[in-house]
Amino acid sequence: MIQVKGYAAIDPTSPLAPFSFQRRDLREHDVLVDILFSGVCHSDLHQARDEWGGSIYPMVPGHEIVGKVIKVGNHVKKFKVGDRAGVGVMIDSCRQCKPCNNYMEQYCAEGMTGTYNNYERDMKTIAQGGYSTQIVCDERWVYHISDKLDLAGVAPLLCAGITTYSPLKFAKVRPGDRVAVAGLGGLGHMAVKFAVAMGAEVTMLSTSPSKAKDAKKLGAHHFVLSTDETAMKKHHSHFDVVVDTVSADHDYEIYLKLLDLHGKLLVVGLPKDEPHVNPFELLKNRRSIIGSMIGGTVETQEMLDFCAEKNIVADIEIISMQKINEAYERLLKSDVKYRFVIDMASLK
Ligand code: NAP
Ligand code: ZN
Ligand code: ZN
Repeated sequence: MIQVKGYAAIDPTSPLAPFSFQRRDLREHDVLVDILFSGVCHSDLHQARDEWGGSIYPMVPGHEIVGKVIKVGNHVKKFKVGDRAGVGVMIDSCRQCKPCNNYMEQYCAEGMTGTYNNYERDMKTIAQGGYSTQIVCDERWVYHISDKLDLAGVAPLLCAGITTYSPLKFAKVRPGDRVAVAGLGGLGHMAVKFAVAMGAEVTMLSTSPSKAKDAKKLGAHHFVLSTDETAMKKHHSHFDVVVDTVSADHDYEIYLKLLDLHGKLLVVGLPKDEPHVNPFELLKNRRSIIGSMIGGTVETQEMLDFCAEKNIVADIEIISMQKINEAYERLLKSDVKYRFVIDMASLK
């Protein structure tokens, strides 16, 4: 077994604290990644605090993992020692069902194995995430990272990146499409970058007036304060796509109303409560609401390659592992530009 240091939540209310645990010895298709940076997703906070229910403790969160391969199993084909590598939100799946056979393992009929807050396929071992020094993972769920990109800035691509790239691709966003992004946080800022890179005319919908300048810097063409009813009304029936990345409880209606004929509300934010939807608003303009969960293994690699080609990384604030509880509090105040990334050297 491989001894690893990490930070864990031991229950929904205590702060995260140092935690030592063991990773399995490498199987034939496994890769051992020395973790250099780990992004902080709002889902880490939701799960550490059991906001979705059913959390498994102790929990080492973290599913935006980048580092270097330091060991490979006998049958590993994709990686060699020294390669840059990333691990995202899942580490396994049944590998046999229709979604798995189509490399959409996040929709595995038996349920994907999440990188943490999940049991591994043996249903006994608790999977532990990236707020740790090393991870062992089957190579199918490990991704190549171009040497051209800043490694710390790549970490958030493994969740915030793929989670926004995948629905924009699914919605077939094309040059000239009018795309709005709700919520300028980790996911929101990546959605803006991708929609701009796909040639869309992008509008930021934010509750924070102070983020207007940044939205423009990120490439958004317009900024609308979503708490300003008059400004929102002006955009009714205006957009082809709205990407909802909001982490706090809210109704879908304010965003639904913004959709033009056949407009799509792409839901990726996962607040605690169930939002209310008025069917009359849905029927108007034949609007649709589409949920989207991260992205499959092939699409995740495609997204990373797209980022290398377009020189896209996340805008980040690097923190030490010891600052994680403070970072969670700041996340709740929407006070992050635009992703915290933990420098794992602080734990080694
Ligand atoms: P984040 O960095 O905290 O950003 C969330 C943003 O939501 C905030 O920056 C804020 O932007 C906006 N917001 C906060 N409170 C709001 C309110 N009351 N009304 C409207 N907007 C509000 O979070 P994140 O890491 O991007 O994650 C966003 C959500 O996506 C979380 O719920 C997370 O669990 C979920 N998620 C889903 C998937 C998936 O596979 N679908 C993957 C990863 C994460 P403004 O200041 O601009 O308003
Ligand atoms: Zn995430
Ligand atoms: Zn499956």
